Amino acid sequence: MKNINKVLIANRGEIAIRVIRSAKEMGISTVAVYSEADRLAPHVKLADEAICIGPAPSSESYLVIDNIIEASKKLNVDAIHPGYGFLSENATFARKLKEAGIILIGPSAESMEIMGDKLAAKTAVATYDIPMVPGINEAVEDLTIAKKVADEIGYPVLIKASAGGGGKGMRVVESPDELEEGMTRAISEAKSAFGNGAVFIEKFIGSPRHIEVQVLGDEHGNILHLFERECSIQRRHQKVIEEAPSSIFSEEKRKAIGETAVNVARACDYVGAGTVEFIVDENHDFFFLEMNTRLQVEHCVTEEITGIDLVKEQIKVARGEKLSFAQEDLSIHGHALEVRIYAENPKNNFLPDIGKLISYKRPHGPGVRIDDGYEEGMDIPIYYDPMIGKLITKGATRKEAIDRMTRAIDEFQINGIETTLSFCKFAINHEAFVSGNFDTKFVQNYFKPEMLDAGTEEEEKVAAVIAAMALDETKSPKMSANKSSKNWKARTSYR
Ligand code: ADP
Ligand code: ADP
Ligand code: MG
Repeated sequence: MKNINKVLIANRGEIAIRVIRSAKEMGISTVAVYSEADRLAPHVKLADEAICIGPAPSSESYLVIDNIIEASKKLNVDAIHPGYGFLSENATFARKLKEAGIILIGPSAESMEIMGDKLAAKTAVATYDIPMVPGINEAVEDLTIAKKVADEIGYPVLIKASAGGGGKGMRVVESPDELEEGMTRAISEAKSAFGNGAVFIEKFIGSPRHIEVQVLGDEHGNILHLFERECSIQRRHQKVIEEAPSSIFSEEKRKAIGETAVNVARACDYVGAGTVEFIVDENHDFFFLEMNTRLQVEHCVTEEITGIDLVKEQIKVARGEKLSFAQEDLSIHGHALEVRIYAENPKNNFLPDIGKLISYKRPHGPGVRIDDGYEEGMDIPIYYDPMIGKLITKGATRKEAIDRMTRAIDEFQINGIETTLSFCKFAINHEAFVSGNFDTKFVQNYFKPEMLDAGTEEEEKVAAVIAAMALDETKSPKMSANKSSKNWKARTSYR
């Protein structure tokens, strides 16, 4: 057993707070790091100690490995939790921590390297009979080969950057005459975005669902799964609503995808919490997409249905402990839903909408959980991911989780910026979502910005009053906020 008495969280926002909370409950002291832009951020206040690691741009602070290691040494830190994004899947970081004698709460550098590269991952799982999307499992540069491969697969095809991530580095090619341009652009984009021009070609699945499986492994060779999450509601290939369990799986299918995910994890000797992503076609057949070697944004829905604190499990595994439960000890209780609250305008193509959180009143009550990283009055910095936080609801049934989410979104009062909440309320109450019959094309198929404009005249008036009050600093912001229940409508008046 390794000692972890002090942990540094190499991240910011909601995920830094999420980790601090579990560490505190385990009696572990916490160190926050922050950039100059985050001096007053809630994660800094919540940690036992905090240390500045550089200027606002993440390339000069949260991404600077040496600054983080230096801070850890200075404050005698035993372990680092990287959260998600930033350095969480960086094998160089993992190696340097090992050299410095600091425990990384995450998998080995080798696992990260294999799974961080989509082609290396496909090669690694080859011995395990894992279903994969039809395509070529090696880098393609030559146009003649690309044409042959695409012809064999059949159009449309998807050109993917092997090093891609975060929904970036993908290009759909509809017909042979678009292939040359598609390849040239994809390779040059992959080079500039990921420093690696390797691309491959996959069948483009027209109406897929994105379903992923949470896995957990220890250093003693035990790997198990904590069921699936449905993440098909996406914009720009990025998730915005997630739920667990998926509403389409039979017990048999659930078992099969879970076992497949465990095999993928086994293929890279995985230790810690990880996620195996699949694409699911109309016949509900699943194909391996990639593995994310970190805690995922949407891990909360899994926690809600299994009752397991994934951050605590990550820490225990990092200490060298054996998993304290077996696959047959795990079961699904109820249904959980998560909506991501991004500072984005769903009425303007989900473009980032930065500004001040003039009012920010969270919902409360049964079955509501909020993991967020901001407080009322704060500015959303332009330097980082525009996610403010996540709203999670749990119900005995899927319907109850949806009804709770609708109620919680109505209760949420955010003024000053546009967020994805209005879209999320629309989406979870849409017939396609309610029936469970939807795919990753949900936004394209069912959403039009005008659909969010159904505010009443009364709401328009309230919005105007709030806007006037917000401009007049002498008035109480509390009063103005409380009057705006249909807050997304009110917010438009600020613009
Ligand atoms: P999830 O954990 O649900 O898969 P995302 O895919 O949105 O969430 O990624 C979480 C965060 O990590 C986001 O801020 C995203 O921009 C970032 N991210 C994910 N993969 C990469 C990558 N390969 N390179 C850079 N950023 C990434
Ligand atoms: P990233 O590393 O960016 O997360 P993924 O391979 O996980 O890349 O794909 C992200 C999303 O892109 C998926 O959730 C899905 O919506 C879409 N996608 C990926 N591969 C395919 C495919 N072959 N056909 C159709 N859509 C795909
Ligand atoms: Mg992915």
